[in-house]
Amino acid sequence: MKAFLSLPRSPLPLLVWLTAVWLTVLTPALAQNWQTAQAPGFVVRYAGGADALHLPEVFRVLQKARQDLKSQGLALPPTVRVVIHPNLKSYTAATGLPWFILSAANRSKNQIDSQRLRVLLERGTLERTLRHELFHLAQPEGWPRWKAEGMAMRFAGEQPVARPLEAITEAELERLLANPPDPTTLRRAMATAYRWTSRLQQ
Ligand SMILES: [Zn+2]
Repeated sequence: MKAFLSLPRSPLPLLVWLTAVWLTVLTPALAQNWQTAQAPGFVVRYAGGADALHLPEVFRVLQKARQDLKSQGLALPPTVRVVIHPNLKSYTAATGLPWFILSAANRSKNQIDSQRLRVLLERGTLERTLRHELFHLAQPEGWPRWKAEGMAMRFAGEQPVARPLEAITEAELERLLANPPDPTTLRRAMATAYRWTSRLQQ
């Protein structure tokens, strides 16, 4: 440990040392055998065989959601990328999100990052999670987070799984949704967003 952490003094060993450190740090997350599957409108990146078994269902869900969004007047980007990470380390490195957030939509990249399909399947949330994130890629510009989350839940068919937060300001709810400190607070913030969007439903 001591030898590994001590810095060499001349430039070449330093370069070798830095490369070794870089590889040590990055290899576990990058040494995936990434593969790509495509269907009209979607490119799915995945690693490993177990997730491949579920790709037909993933594409079915994605394409149905695209149709459903369209029928609500919401357009997805022509091509959406879905990256299914093979482990938490890869997911966290790519998104910077905590373990208890299963997936995330990146609107500037037209991309969804998801934890392993098995995690979603075990929780019975594969379809709802993908629909939720796709909604974020299709939602109008400029919505506050609470509106985006509440409406995404409704589009996905998700039900609140905690009590809403009472007497919370919009600014505080926005802060909690942007940076949830723990799973329970996230569930309650989502339940609040769900409640606040009830009046927006026709
Ligand atoms: Zn969301």
